[in-house]
Amino acid sequence: MKIIVTGGAGFIGSCVIRTIINETNFRAINFDKLTYAGNLESLNEISDSNRYYFEKIDICNKEHLKELFKKHKPDCVMHLAAESHVDRSITGPKEFINTNIIGTFNLLEISRDYYKNLSASKKTIFRFHHVSTDEVYGDLQDSQDFFHESTSYKPSSPYSASKAASDHLVRAWGRTYNLPIIVTNCSNNYGSFQFPEKLIPHIILSAINGEKLPIYGDGSQIRDWLYVEDHANALIKVISEGGIGETYNIGGHNEMTNLEVVKRICSLLDKLVPNKTSKINRYADLITFVKDRPGHDFRYAIDASKIKRELGWIPNETFDSGLLKTVKWYLDNKEWCKNVLSGNYKLDRLGK
Ligand code: NAD
Repeated sequence: MKIIVTGGAGFIGSCVIRTIINETNFRAINFDKLTYAGNLESLNEISDSNRYYFEKIDICNKEHLKELFKKHKPDCVMHLAAESHVDRSITGPKEFINTNIIGTFNLLEISRDYYKNLSASKKTIFRFHHVSTDEVYGDLQDSQDFFHESTSYKPSSPYSASKAASDHLVRAWGRTYNLPIIVTNCSNNYGSFQFPEKLIPHIILSAINGEKLPIYGDGSQIRDWLYVEDHANALIKVISEGGIGETYNIGGHNEMTNLEVVKRICSLLDKLVPNKTSKINRYADLITFVKDRPGHDFRYAIDASKIKRELGWIPNETFDSGLLKTVKWYLDNKEWCKNVLSGNYKLDRLGK
């Protein structure tokens, strides 16, 4: 099976491609614009494979998309390309509207046209898999509540609103044009190769540099953390076995406050890197509370029982096992971090 993976040079997309090449016999065609968040170094491990191919493309360019669908003749599309950072969406929402909404619209239109002309047997295989977020559901206040596949949408940030819009477009193309679509909504991911503007790598790198560890508000916001390799495995399961028109929520059953996440990273670093660059006793001494992000959602928690029941997927990692792997990876891959931080972004907190 030949799969176009959009956003394959990003954090989750690169993990999906590494997993496809290492653990399946599928082919992966990476469609990526290489924004600040896309880095081909994340694919070094598999870039020599004859089942991998890269195309530099902006999904906002419809003509280019058309040409490349014709060239590669995919069996499936896994759509991950997006502007993905909430803080950036607050300071500059335009790119989120362009890529997440217009880009998805282009991809749907090109896929619809392409699907229409497929043979009957190819039509039975084709899927348009849209990878989305639990942030489209808004936030939860009650500690017993969970996001289900039927939870209504109530996005809070320009990022989640643009993802919500793209989810609606995908489902409409399924319903109106019979495009065989599947949508997945996933909780917060963490793991290797994540751009260091996101909480976990940001805290690891700032701590080992002896810099302050900024926490929004009082750090009581709760997220449900999923190790990225578990997410990639879930996505491959969904594209292979998921039902047409279905939505699957994917989560890690790891609810934790942001403050607790930061404290766990600090105590791992106390053991792994005892020689600190600054004069502190513990890394947690670097924690500092900063003005909260506007519109900050309080709690996200996914009910992932449907994907477990219907496709037999459950996460392999606990938060502690996944976090240990992640911290070790950032300590061992300073060159990757240096390279991705060589652009404009210098570990500052955006979106305040
Ligand atoms: P990322 O920001 O790390 O990567 C995004 C990739 O998309 C980059 O490689 C970038 O170059 C590419 N891209 C951006 N605009 C493009 C365009 N116009 N044309 C082509 N390529 C473009 O994002 P991520 O964290 O890997 O997230 C991937 C997907 O998963 C996104 O759709 C996101 O909404 C969703 N998601 C992410 C999380 C998370 O915790 N990171 C959780 C749930 C869902």
